[in-house]
Amino acid sequence: MRHLKINLGGFVPISTVDWSHQLSFVIFLSGCPFRCPYCQNYELLEVKELRDSEELFRELDEAKMFIDGVVFSGGEPTERIDILTFLIEGVKKRGLKVAVQTNGYYPDNLKRILEDVDLFMMDVKTVPEKYDSLVKRPDALERVERSLEILRESEVDVEIRTTLFRSLHTLEDVERIALWVSDFPLVLQQGRPENAWDEEIRKERPLTRDEIFEMARVAKKHNKNIKIRTAELGEEEYEDHSIRREAVLGEERSCKSGKRDGYSRSYHGRCCER
Ligand code: SF4
Repeated sequence: MRHLKINLGGFVPISTVDWSHQLSFVIFLSGCPFRCPYCQNYELLEVKELRDSEELFRELDEAKMFIDGVVFSGGEPTERIDILTFLIEGVKKRGLKVAVQTNGYYPDNLKRILEDVDLFMMDVKTVPEKYDSLVKRPDALERVERSLEILRESEVDVEIRTTLFRSLHTLEDVERIALWVSDFPLVLQQGRPENAWDEEIRKERPLTRDEIFEMARVAKKHNKNIKIRTAELGEEEYEDHSIRREAVLGEERSCKSGKRDGYSRSYHGRCCER
């Protein structure tokens, strides 16, 4: 098989939490055009080294019998689309499913992989007028909207994720986000300030499960399919003013770090906010 030098940031051989109801191998690809202040994976924002794809596929082959699929995370995995398409092809050849976590900044690249992806988990980070300044990219909103449109017109499964922080998201913001993406399932995730890139965010208290429950109640007015995800209880579905715990496979996942120890910290939370 062809080898490539890839922007591999690291991987988790078996995860129960990155893809609902699936055991997954998670691949972190480095490089990201955004600079979200709450990013937890800031060590992966720049591509610092390239590694041989064979090394990664050897690890995937060892894990293959225990997993359902592979989640591509980052950084932003669609940034280097030639590498991502090459890796997806290798995963498909092994008979595994594919999920891609994305910030939506590369709509044309999303189009190129639509047919080969089973699930897109796309971030919608805030309301439209705050978007570009939050992620520090002047054309972010326009590109995110194009990505949403492409996903809307496709047949692929999509889950939208918003990661919530006390200083960044009001109840009204969440309501507007729910309306904006009312045609997609929306997951409201509890942000983890303690791991944030920005010092000010690191000082704040995480939103509580009760506060996120209230946000889910408001979001539910506009969006039929709302879940919340918290450190306390994992993933839960919001239904008629109550919460039903999702049947998750467990909360543990093993971590196999890349060459640099610093990376392993990133793997204990979801990728960045994911
Ligand atoms: S949170 Fe995700 S999209 Fe934002 S800077 Fe970090 S890796 Fe990039």
